[in-house]
Amino acid sequence: ALTSRVQTVHETYAREALPRRKEDGHKGTFGKVLVIGGAVGYSGAPYLAASGAVHSGCGLVFLGVPESLWAVEAMKCISAMPFPLAEKEGGLSCKALPDLREKLAECDVLALGPGLGHGESAVRLVHTLLDETSKPIVLDADGINALEGHIDSLDGRRGRVTILTPHDGEFLRIGGELSHGDRVRAAREFAIRHGCILVLKGHRTLTATPEGNVLVNTTGNSGLAKGGSGDVLTGLIASLLAQGTTAVQAAALGVWLHGRAGDLAASRLTAYAMTPKDVISALPEALIEIG
Ligand code: AMP
Ligand code: MG
Repeated sequence: ALTSRVQTVHETYAREALPRRKEDGHKGTFGKVLVIGGAVGYSGAPYLAASGAVHSGCGLVFLGVPESLWAVEAMKCISAMPFPLAEKEGGLSCKALPDLREKLAECDVLALGPGLGHGESAVRLVHTLLDETSKPIVLDADGINALEGHIDSLDGRRGRVTILTPHDGEFLRIGGELSHGDRVRAAREFAIRHGCILVLKGHRTLTATPEGNVLVNTTGNSGLAKGGSGDVLTGLIASLLAQGTTAVQAAALGVWLHGRAGDLAASRLTAYAMTPKDVISALPEALIEIG
């Protein structure tokens, strides 16, 4: 009975889940994503997340980073809109909250965590946002680490959309159970227990839903096992969600597209030499296949 709730995600799933673009749509139609992250030493992660969003169809992408990173992000991003936030010890300060709230009010989806660092202020910011916003959140990286020992912040969001995208290390840190070697069961139990969508990354990434369904991805390769890959995925999922897919579709399609683009990049560049930027560059071809 349980296995009937496990499905593999192939090209046909991706084709059906991809949101069609309204011919007469405008920036607002396709949704607005707010990416929050970055800390001194982690300037690439928020940039890659914003780029993943920019290259997958949403209408607008804002990128909030600590003020000392802002000029660098602004140089790199011409299609996303970076803005500076109050900073403390190289990461985000709690004083960033009013500006953050104001920007979030305009946006449809929040992607939170890439390169955020583990400063006390940034961690508190994550908890405040999880608690107070009813908007969908894609929580990744240090945004997930911020939940260590505070998983109740997640439980409080039951009924709202929360997509977590941990790799194994992050999953273990927030209480995921991998010791019995059954990843499907571990992902399912976590998603049910905490009422969230869990994207357990790695070879054959799993997407588990709060109802106990598990979607097994079939794309991707070891060339994705490099710093920055996961950040691209975060932006992609947020972008699909902003375009009106269901939360489960955004997660499963995002994972499929990310892996497929990774496979196309590897076929040209090898799994050794490809980079997260190359995954973004291969997104058009992956999209053509399912468009
Ligand atoms: P992160 O650890 O956050 O940078 O995320 C790594 C990304 O690469 C995730 O999307 C993983 O699913 C993917 N990935 C890592 N290792 C592999 C692998 N051996 N095969 C396929 N995908 C992988
Ligand atoms: Mg990561």
